[in-house]
Amino acid sequence: MPKKDIGSMTLKEIENEFSSLGQPKYRAKQVYQWLRKGVSSFDEMSNLPKTLRESLCNFFDIRSIKIKKRLESRVDDTVKYLYELYDGEYVESVLMKYHHGYTVCISSQVGCRMGCSFCASGLYGLTRNLTAYEMLAQIHTAAKDNNIRVSNVVMMGMGEPLDNFENTVRFLQLVSDGEGLGIGLRHISVSTSGVVPGIYKLMEYGFPVTLSISLHAPTDEIRDKMMKINKAYNTETLLKACRDYIAKTGRRISFEYALIDGVNNSTECADILAHRLKGMLCHLNLIPANPVRENDYSRPDDKEVKRFCDMMNQRGINTTIRRTLGADIDASCGQLRKQHLNQQ
Ligand code: SAH
Ligand code: SF4
Repeated sequence: MPKKDIGSMTLKEIENEFSSLGQPKYRAKQVYQWLRKGVSSFDEMSNLPKTLRESLCNFFDIRSIKIKKRLESRVDDTVKYLYELYDGEYVESVLMKYHHGYTVCISSQVGCRMGCSFCASGLYGLTRNLTAYEMLAQIHTAAKDNNIRVSNVVMMGMGEPLDNFENTVRFLQLVSDGEGLGIGLRHISVSTSGVVPGIYKLMEYGFPVTLSISLHAPTDEIRDKMMKINKAYNTETLLKACRDYIAKTGRRISFEYALIDGVNNSTECADILAHRLKGMLCHLNLIPANPVRENDYSRPDDKEVKRFCDMMNQRGINTTIRRTLGADIDASCGQLRKQHLNQQ
């Protein structure tokens, strides 16, 4: 029988497992507390008898992760990690320092099947989903490695969180647990390329997370060329889901818009985009696109990015430019794993 992924279980689930093994509830609680501290083996659970630790190994796996590569930016405090998973796969995380504390950008899948044309994460398709524990472990490992407390999490690394829905929900439940990282859901952003059914499912949970939508284009004509998912859920369907999300949760949506020179940065694009977002409880975040060698997109210069930002603000859309962090270490997701896979 395959071993069970105990790190992703809730306390209740561990109690049920333990009860069928004839173990008392308080043992389940002890194990749960260790797991919430981000341990990587049963051996670390020092208040458990050795025989129990040994027997737990027969039934359960702790799917911990290892730092394979660590890149520290020389221009700011950004640290980029390439993590190796228990099965030899790789994902990336980025630790960023802001004035309000530390933010970790985590991956939700190994690769991604969405295949957006500007993104390095989708270049090799989807290998597998991450478990909730593997998402948590990215935060624990970065926090321990730098001896810091992480206050914010963005699910903007590799993968599409809403294409890994169950594990993402489990992750959100566990990350906010006070026994562990205790990161409030208000300090977490879930980013999606526009998996509309996932947006509807997420709103049913009523998590007070920030929903980020990778919009990147004002029309279907342009978005179709950048993001395959637009063929399944076009901009009208997506924006309707966003309006429904806002109506149901009362929360502001954040739209991500990677500016690519000559593709989505014209005045006409600004006009259409402003028209379509007008009146929505939202914020627009402009990202100067990071060039990926496999495509021939180029980023507009800073002046052009500022011009687009000004145009949007003048048109009544609350818009800011995302600060570029770790520019010298390829801090945009999927790029480090790509490099690593290319070297192998
Ligand atoms: N799959 C999810 C979350 C991960 S991608 C999503 O697409 O939203 C995180 C963000 O990085 C997304 O907004 C994505 O569009 C953006 N991104 C990906 N590749 C990029 C690149 N080369 N330059 C700038 N932003 C990029
Ligand atoms: Fe996947 Fe997001 Fe990259 Fe698109 S932008 S390929 S959805 S990770």
